[in-house]
Amino acid sequence: MQRPKRMLVANVAWANETAVRDPRFFHELSQGQSPHVLWLGCSDSRVPAETITHCEPGDLFVHRNIANLFVPDDDNCASVLEYAVRVLKVGHIIVCGHDGCGGVRAALLPPSTDLPHVARRIAPLCALARTHDAELAQQPSDRARADRLAELNVLEQVRQLRAHPIVRHGEPAPLVHGWIFSLADGRLKVLSSGYGDDNCRPALAVSREGARSGVAA
Ligand SMILES: [Zn+2]
Repeated sequence: MQRPKRMLVANVAWANETAVRDPRFFHELSQGQSPHVLWLGCSDSRVPAETITHCEPGDLFVHRNIANLFVPDDDNCASVLEYAVRVLKVGHIIVCGHDGCGGVRAALLPPSTDLPHVARRIAPLCALARTHDAELAQQPSDRARADRLAELNVLEQVRQLRAHPIVRHGEPAPLVHGWIFSLADGRLKVLSSGYGDDNCRPALAVSREGARSGVAA
């Protein structure tokens, strides 16, 4: 069976199973959305926001791009943030990077002339790598260098989001968190907590109940 056909068949199964498990699920879904979390993650197929946090449709307002970059002058990014904060009034923004990120790895290599859009997109990441050149040079391998840059990148996006007028003047102003996902064991690690304690600590998944009550971690 061709891939799209298989996906459509799987969709029917999922819709049926979901309706059996919760007969009111789709009725509630059709009434509107009130997610408590804006998720800014990487487009990487291995880091699906809902799956790794056990969230359901309606729990997360999601924006994903290569290397989970927040670019204030990009209307795609900015409109998602604007709508999430001013209309949906999300209580939390979670920036989630991951190890083994191709976009981050590319930022440590010479620009690719074959991928001009990607090269332009990750230019801020290349600049960030140059800023942290000394620290990155101390890493023992290319892989370690890329994974450290992925963490620094999350922290930089968190910093930019916290400084952005839409976030600062939000009513309420959402808390901004920085997380990193490990492909090796599927665990999330908190790099920066929106609650003001930026020490690393084990991450908790956003449960369906937690997301609905505004408790992210
Ligand atoms: Zn990635």
